[in-house]
Amino acid sequence: MSSADNATIIYRLGNECEISDISTGKIYSGVIEGFANFGSFVYLNDSVKGLVHKSNILTTHKAGETIMVRVNAIRNNGNIDLEEIIITSYTIEQVSCKKRQTRLCDLKTRVGRTVHLTCQVAQIKQTSGPTIFTLVDESGTENAAGFIEAGKRAFPEVVQGDMVSVSGEVMQRGGQIQIELNDMRPLSCEEAALVEQRIENALHERAEPEDIPLLIQSDVLQLLRPEMRKIAAQIRKAVFTAQPILVRHHADADGICSAVAIEQAVVSLINESGKDYDADYFLFKRAPSKAPFYEIEDITRDLDYATRDSIRFGQKMPLIVLTDNGSTEEDLPSMKMAEVYGIPMIVFDHHHPDEIVDTYLISHANPYHVGGDFGITAGMLGVEIARLISPAVEERIKHLAAVAAVGDRSAAPERQRYLDLVAGNFPEPLCKEIASALDYEQFYLRFNDGREIIKDILFLNENEKRSRELVQLLVKESENAIEEQIRTCMPHVERRELDNGAHLFLLDVEIHAHKFTFPPPGKTSGEVHDRLCRMHAGQPVVTLGFGPDFAVLRSRGILLNIPEMVRNLREEMPGAGINGGGHLVVGSIKFVEGMRESALARLIEMMGTYPIE
Ligand code: MN
Repeated sequence: MSSADNATIIYRLGNECEISDISTGKIYSGVIEGFANFGSFVYLNDSVKGLVHKSNILTTHKAGETIMVRVNAIRNNGNIDLEEIIITSYTIEQVSCKKRQTRLCDLKTRVGRTVHLTCQVAQIKQTSGPTIFTLVDESGTENAAGFIEAGKRAFPEVVQGDMVSVSGEVMQRGGQIQIELNDMRPLSCEEAALVEQRIENALHERAEPEDIPLLIQSDVLQLLRPEMRKIAAQIRKAVFTAQPILVRHHADADGICSAVAIEQAVVSLINESGKDYDADYFLFKRAPSKAPFYEIEDITRDLDYATRDSIRFGQKMPLIVLTDNGSTEEDLPSMKMAEVYGIPMIVFDHHHPDEIVDTYLISHANPYHVGGDFGITAGMLGVEIARLISPAVEERIKHLAAVAAVGDRSAAPERQRYLDLVAGNFPEPLCKEIASALDYEQFYLRFNDGREIIKDILFLNENEKRSRELVQLLVKESENAIEEQIRTCMPHVERRELDNGAHLFLLDVEIHAHKFTFPPPGKTSGEVHDRLCRMHAGQPVVTLGFGPDFAVLRSRGILLNIPEMVRNLREEMPGAGINGGGHLVVGSIKFVEGMRESALARLIEMMGTYPIE
């Protein structure tokens, strides 16, 4: 019988440890797991086991019980001789694996060798062959393959999000690095917390964007820089942790440019981190929203996909980025749904923001927050944020800010600065053509992102000749369609005068314009408005295009506040079902069909009360 004093150390063997991590003479805690005629088997961790010969047993052994054992010998054949010890006073010390831990970014220098590492499981995908685990640590992300039999889930005890210890052989196939797993097991609570903290700290630093100046001089953008850096860091971190990113954008030229800038940066960063050849397809999605806000229809579709992908492909829930929409009260129902699923949301937008949305966002860049206005378009913000995500894409995407500026008719001084920046390859007339080609093509793409076609229109694919031809063709088609629409509807425009003296032009786009074809009612009203502005140069003009249950408002030279009018109408006419919004001077309003005459009459009265510029 052995004895020990209270300075005795009892060792607890970490799960990643092997036989080489134990020492003869030391005392360990272990769990009784089986019996033989000659003694009991005791596990020192999940894989290292020894035998307490019956001559060394001091108590009555029950399976699952923890006892203390001294290692008396480690034999050449791997058998471990243990002796049971009884101690009442001791201190416990954790034994961690002494093996050199490899980081994921170093795997390419370890091809053909066995590596050990601790990391997080970001995704688990079952193939018809092995199970593919996407691993993430502070340095990068790589795949690991586990195989029991074809199509059967390997390591079923490991679930997505687990901190694990992994060992396996590094293989290289077709330029792809992959670990072929020998072992993978979840870490204990304490170990997991340490590894998580280690990864988190390093990722925080790694996600921090480079300190680069803005592309142009701009006071407003300068003030937005901290928030844009925050957004870039959040998106970078999502890429580093294999969290899918979904960018939802308004389906116009500005919205497309802002989202495509982010797409270019994220795809470049994903490819830099060198994962599967198609990782950029399942880890990044871009989707246009018809309405200038995140509709219930959109979030429902997004949640449907995200929850399926989570079940089918073991993906994390996505990070949602809203651009050129997402900053008004109308976005709230969708944001609340995202919150139920714990989906983080980012907004960068130049619509007049309602403060309440910030309750649901992890970041929000908006020129109105810093004294700017919609002249700083979403496309400008998108290009600046994209450069922070991946500086490598700057040259490829800087014309997107200029296209967005002309597409959204920015009157801010920044417009010209972005145009000057790319004047060589993308003079203003070409930027305008690209913007109208985008609007035209998106109309027919409907809910699709048209990833490669849109890249062609934006000169982002290699074939410049094709881009040029495509843009020219689309512009021509778009102009023809607009001319046809204008010729049809101009004779039906009715002129009135508002109380403040501004011209008011009314057009029933439902009965006096082509339907279900380009240009849609909003665009039609805009084109009519432009012509009327030219015909009444220097005078205040409001154009109201309306259908059975909606009206689209365009104005010049009058200080309207459309969101305010919508709020007041809604209060005054509870039976009219009013809602809508948009920018201060450009927007749309919906109502129930039976209340159209009185809603429009009241709206016209209200417009007459706003001052002329
Ligand atoms: Mn916009």
